[in-house]
Amino acid sequence: MNRTIFHVDMDAFFAAVEQREHPEYRGKPLIIGGLAGRGVVSTCSYEARTYGVHSAMPMERAQRLCPQGIFIEGNYPLYQAASHDVFEIFHAFSPVVEPLSIDEAFLDMTGMERLMTSPHDYAVRLKREIREKTQLVASVGIAPNKFLAKIASDLEKPDGLVEVPQDAAGIRAFLWPLPVSRIWGVGKKTEQHLLTLRVRTVGDLAKLPEATLKKSFGEKTAAQLRALSHGLDDRPVAPRGPQKSIGREETFTEDLRAQADIERALHYLAGEVGWRLRKAGRKARTITLKVRRGDFHTWTRSRTLGRPTNFDDELYAVAKQLYHDLHPTGGIRLLGISGSNFDESEELALFGEETNAKKERLYGVVDALKQRFGRDIIK
Ligand SMILES: [Mg+2]
Repeated sequence: MNRTIFHVDMDAFFAAVEQREHPEYRGKPLIIGGLAGRGVVSTCSYEARTYGVHSAMPMERAQRLCPQGIFIEGNYPLYQAASHDVFEIFHAFSPVVEPLSIDEAFLDMTGMERLMTSPHDYAVRLKREIREKTQLVASVGIAPNKFLAKIASDLEKPDGLVEVPQDAAGIRAFLWPLPVSRIWGVGKKTEQHLLTLRVRTVGDLAKLPEATLKKSFGEKTAAQLRALSHGLDDRPVAPRGPQKSIGREETFTEDLRAQADIERALHYLAGEVGWRLRKAGRKARTITLKVRRGDFHTWTRSRTLGRPTNFDDELYAVAKQLYHDLHPTGGIRLLGISGSNFDESEELALFGEETNAKKERLYGVVDALKQRFGRDIIK
């Protein structure tokens, strides 16, 4: 089955967050890293890169290359908060997100083709949403697997968007001209070794006789290199650790004031969360509502149900009740609904079984329609 995987990687993440928070850093070479002793550069702005500064370089060296640069130690909690915001958006775009680090992730878009006009357009929307909501810039690679998506996101940084074709000929045309060092896991040592075999590009590697490859690298690595040189990689996108909650939140461009608008937003969010829960095969016993007012005052309110659910209407009813009980005044900037406390061993519900079976069928149909026509169809 063809897969569609996004690799999303934020551009010069720490530096970009600093430049967002400190206008005086914008347009300037900014270098973040350990200032004491033998510190190394952890990130630098693109302005600093033009001086030859790059990450993992000793700070001393960076100071010599770019004496006029701004050198700071960095503010990790700030980056963590920005990362949280970015990952919220990732989760809004895909139910299957595998974080790779604080600022990059794989998003599995397989089966969502019907929700998007095209993966390319969807990636454009993702990039736009990241920019609008966080004022940060991301690069995206679109490919049939993780290996190719990761290469693709890096090719046109910053603000890159590269799509690798699905077919074998297209993959070869994309992959084979690239230097062999682009292959994930090919470090300096392997690269040197490959150079002695006159392998410079991925294409050279693909054409190397199998026996030569085995002799140099052993059976296992040879097989891996061979597969990668043909752009083959069937590792799944694996969300890390057990997911503790499934939710969705939305920041509004203008604060919501009318009751009808708030209820409509809750209804939409409940539908999104229900869909995600069903897709993950989960039912939540605890439903949490998050409300943020225009002045950033934030509340969360939860209710634990007697019977776990993943039905939109039940999620909506609970969220609406929680909202009314909270009764916030003033404009609402953000609303979020999440389900947690997943039911692992679902007990047999003796009462209401019939209605449940009917509802399961109903939501099966709803999800199939969403899959076919896009998530906005049922409104
Ligand atoms: Mg990055």
